[in-house]
Amino acid sequence: MDVEALLERLVAWPTVSDQPVTGIAAELAERLEAVGMRVERLDAPEPGKCNLVCSAGPAGTDGIVLSGHMDVVPVVGQPWTSDPFRLTRRGDRLVGRGACDMKAFLAAIVAALTRTPPKDLRRELVLVFTHDEEVGCLGSRSLADRFSAEGRSLPSLALIGEPTSFRMLRMHPGHVAARITCAGVAAHSSKPDLGRNAIRLAANVLDALDALADRWRQDVRFADLLERPFVVMNVATIHGGSAVNIVPDRCVIDVGFRPLPGMAPEALFEELRAAVEPLGAVQAELVRVTPAMLTPSGTPLEDLLRPWASAPDTAAASFATDGGNFERLGMRTLVFGPGSIDVAHKADEYVPTDELHRAVDVVDEVVARRCRIG
Ligand SMILES: [Zn+2]
Repeated sequence: MDVEALLERLVAWPTVSDQPVTGIAAELAERLEAVGMRVERLDAPEPGKCNLVCSAGPAGTDGIVLSGHMDVVPVVGQPWTSDPFRLTRRGDRLVGRGACDMKAFLAAIVAALTRTPPKDLRRELVLVFTHDEEVGCLGSRSLADRFSAEGRSLPSLALIGEPTSFRMLRMHPGHVAARITCAGVAAHSSKPDLGRNAIRLAANVLDALDALADRWRQDVRFADLLERPFVVMNVATIHGGSAVNIVPDRCVIDVGFRPLPGMAPEALFEELRAAVEPLGAVQAELVRVTPAMLTPSGTPLEDLLRPWASAPDTAAASFATDGGNFERLGMRTLVFGPGSIDVAHKADEYVPTDELHRAVDVVDEVVARRCRIG
């Protein structure tokens, strides 16, 4: 099947992160089994969620991992001008949810391996398709947990085909989600002195977070790679109070911040806790950690990709990927793929048609050079 038809099939699975991925995983598994790959489905505890690991060539030889996530971000409330789950051709673009982020790369892998089946490989080719990347890289985290526990290893080089307009990206900050709960004492609003206002307390918390963000901004690292070479913080949501005539007894703040490679996310969270908990009845809790990624420059994968790259040097991504979890397995990852992150997650997301076709050639050549020759 041609890569455009494949992409059309993959986009038709509405794999928004609150939906199952087992359908798209079954289709990918079937197509890859048909070209002779060994397919392993790793089911998550939650129903409808799984990772897919497919391999070809002699196990344990250090070939390459090609990886992508199967989930997509929601479309609700976005001004789409066509059905997001029906791939639509518009001029030199293919429009649909996940068109670039990142079903284009999944389609390119399947198309390349259908064109040149992975037979008689000298080194192992492994495909890793994950679930729930868009909601905190949950699939790759459970894969890394499982493989470390079982002492299983994967090839030391990985390519994640996120949309980078074929720029080679070798690092990105991580992400930490934290929740801060401010407790007050409810009272009738006519007697506010009898209560304690949780929203007032939250205002003090926000000031303390601002001061912490300022302090973090002073710790500059990776200035050669990052536009914002420090830990950035975002106060994302705030919920407090229930009625205009009640002194609020609870206010909850969700905060996100982005640790740089080499920083301990838990230690940063402890700094945050120390900044807010002394303010009163305040409790901070660590919700989720997505690890940062840092691949040294000059990996063999960089040399393989350079002829296809839109710039000869490597750069950083501002967004997090499954690569942070792959690093826990000792893998050195580059993020490189068709389409632009600027149109991902938006209405009328698209991949340029020529970039989709080029991605097939990239996969073909990377597999040939890394796994067939030498
Ligand atoms: Zn993505």
